[in-house]
Amino acid sequence: MTAVQHDPFTPPPGYRLRLPGPTEVPEAVRAALARPMINHRGPEFRAMLAETEELIRPVLGTQNPVIFLAGSGTAAMEATLANILAPGERVLVASHGQFGERFAEIARCLGAEVDVVEFTWGEAPDPAVVGAKLAEADYGALLVTHNESSTGAVADLAGLGRLTQGTRTLLVTDSVSGLAGLEMRQDEWGVDVVVSASQKALMCPPGLGLVSLSERARARVMRNEAMPRFFFDFRKALTAAEKHETPFTPSVSHVAGLHMALKMIEAETLPKVLSRHRRLADALRAGGAAMGLSEFTRASRRSTTVVVFEVPASLQGGDIVRLMYQRHACVIAGARNRLQGRVIRIGVMGGHNEGTILTDLVQLESVLRELGHPVAAGAGVAAAAAFLAGAPEKVAQAAE
Ligand SMILES: *Cc1c(COP(=O)(O)O)cnc(C)c1O
Repeated sequence: MTAVQHDPFTPPPGYRLRLPGPTEVPEAVRAALARPMINHRGPEFRAMLAETEELIRPVLGTQNPVIFLAGSGTAAMEATLANILAPGERVLVASHGQFGERFAEIARCLGAEVDVVEFTWGEAPDPAVVGAKLAEADYGALLVTHNESSTGAVADLAGLGRLTQGTRTLLVTDSVSGLAGLEMRQDEWGVDVVVSASQKALMCPPGLGLVSLSERARARVMRNEAMPRFFFDFRKALTAAEKHETPFTPSVSHVAGLHMALKMIEAETLPKVLSRHRRLADALRAGGAAMGLSEFTRASRRSTTVVVFEVPASLQGGDIVRLMYQRHACVIAGARNRLQGRVIRIGVMGGHNEGTILTDLVQLESVLRELGHPVAAGAGVAAAAAFLAGAPEKVAQAAE
């Protein structure tokens, strides 16, 4: 074999991946991803999968078995619905943004009867309103986005869990962009299914989905009248998981990467990881506010993994995103939905530190100025630094 000398796809010097996913992958995780291939039915892989499951349980706040799937977050969402819903079964989607719409679309596409209770983008679902809607019909599941990456609003899963516990309705949440950066207490909150993926706060490349199923969700999966599925059949996956295997060839390297990322989270300790996310997201908000960027999110529970700013009326979101890349090789996100041009979104997912946020603000400041938006020199950085000085790192207090 001939080695390829020059890789034209290596990002430029100074490249900063500041999207709300995929996120930067730490060096130790990249090294784990690059290990030699191993037998996916051998003792090394079984041990690695078993440990990965043990390490992710505290992050999920669960004792459930966890299924690992080759595929992105959307694949894990689709697989989940195909396993817990029967054709024609009614589901309720409490939607508060683009990813709630996606959940509804997947359910419709699979042949479920879908009702949507929609909340204003930027707000979170109101459990009282959802509860009233749940009382109107016999719903097999309630689907909700935990951390709405399109708006920065966070759903009250504990409040929604109180509605579905003791009923036939399974509470299913997409925490693709929340898990490992935002608190999740699956068992305590009564969440039946948590769906997540590798490329957000879990600091891995895209390509690995994961699903944690409560006992009653597993019972639902085992019934016969589910939607057609083969690769994504959770009955096979749950049986294989008992032996620390997967029914088909797993994405071995991704599991190795995830294992390393979870070891890093364990070493830092989960409470510190979560409080670091909150602190950095709040510092970014403080810095943005000082530069005249108001926050789009209105909900009382605001994301710790993505900050969504409104674009000043005189500017276009796309111009900010483009110039951040052209001038600084910094990749932030705009919107590909009804908010197009009106918001910019910056990820605070994974292994970031104060320097990340301060650099974001320096680069944003220069771009805003170039676009004609008045910013006093250093205003954003000063506000963020003042926030950080006044909010020393500490372990998050138990919420709720
Ligand atoms: C990123 C994301 C997904 C998954 O998207 P994929 O591109 O399929 O991995 C799902 N839900 C939310 C809230 C997300 O942020």
